[in-house]
Amino acid sequence: MSDTNLKPLKKNGFEGRTFLTEAEWKTYRRARAVRYAQTDDSTVLCESCGKKGTKKNPLQNAHKIGHAIGTDHVGLTPEALLRSYNIVKAHKSECNRKVEAKTPSEIADFLVRKDGYGISIEEFPAFMRKQSPNVWKALQAIEAPPS
Ligand SMILES: [Zn+2]
Repeated sequence: MSDTNLKPLKKNGFEGRTFLTEAEWKTYRRARAVRYAQTDDSTVLCESCGKKGTKKNPLQNAHKIGHAIGTDHVGLTPEALLRSYNIVKAHKSECNRKVEAKTPSEIADFLVRKDGYGISIEEFPAFMRKQSPNVWKALQAIEAPPS
C-alpha cells in the first residue's frame, strides 16, 4: 500500500461569474465569506477624504459593496467582491463606512454603473429577486426611472 502526502486540490473558482447560484448562495448564508489581508501604501490617498493614512487611522481596503451585504443581499461571488472596481482605499475610522454602498438604491446604482459592475438588470438572478426584493425594486427603478 502506497502512502503519499495529500496535495492541495486545484480551486475551481466561480468561472468569472458575477453572481452566485442559488445553491452557492445558500452555502454562504451558513458562514461569512473570507476577508483578505490588507496592505498599506503611504503614497495612496483616501477615496473619501483625499488625505494620507496615519498611524492612528491607517488606510484600509474598503469595499464599495461589502462582503456581508454583497453575499447576503446581492448574491455576488467572492471573486466579484474582490474585483478592483469594488475595492478602494479609505481610512479605517469614519471613511471606510462612507465609501460603502448601504441602501438598496446605492447598491443598485453601483451594480449597473459602467465604472462599477456594469450589469443589466436582467442579469440579477431570479432567486435573488425574491430574497432581496428591495435591491430588485431599486434596480427596476433605475431601468425605468419615474417620469
Ligand atoms: Zn479618509
